[in-house]
Amino acid sequence: MQMTDAGYDDWLDAIDAGDGFYLACEAGHGSLPPRRVCPHCGSPELSEEPLPETGEVETYTVVHVPPPNFAHEAPYATVIADFGGVRLTGVLGSDAVDDVEVGSAVEAGAAANEADDSRMVRFSLR
Ligand SMILES: [Zn+2]
Repeated sequence: MQMTDAGYDDWLDAIDAGDGFYLACEAGHGSLPPRRVCPHCGSPELSEEPLPETGEVETYTVVHVPPPNFAHEAPYATVIADFGGVRLTGVLGSDAVDDVEVGSAVEAGAAANEADDSRMVRFSLR
């Protein structure tokens, strides 16, 4: 299977296996699957690039009053982290909320949301 055809679930599997990647066009724009063309410039030439092991927290928001499907997680942080070529959005669990700051190093993994059976990117502090 060509990974540019991968869906988001396949991508989460890869992240969880420590085999994370992102898609890059020849102009160096990073994006996440599923993509057929670069969302920045429309290029159809996407290649799979290895995701760096750690990213840097760019911004985060601590959520104390979450939507119902995240109620069991609160307080948690919604984090945007810069992984070099690409930015990932994910959550950081309540155990790490007090320690996170802009510039913190994080690793990405996948986690199930027990409440609604969806999956998402979960960060952990390095
Ligand atoms: Zn591009």
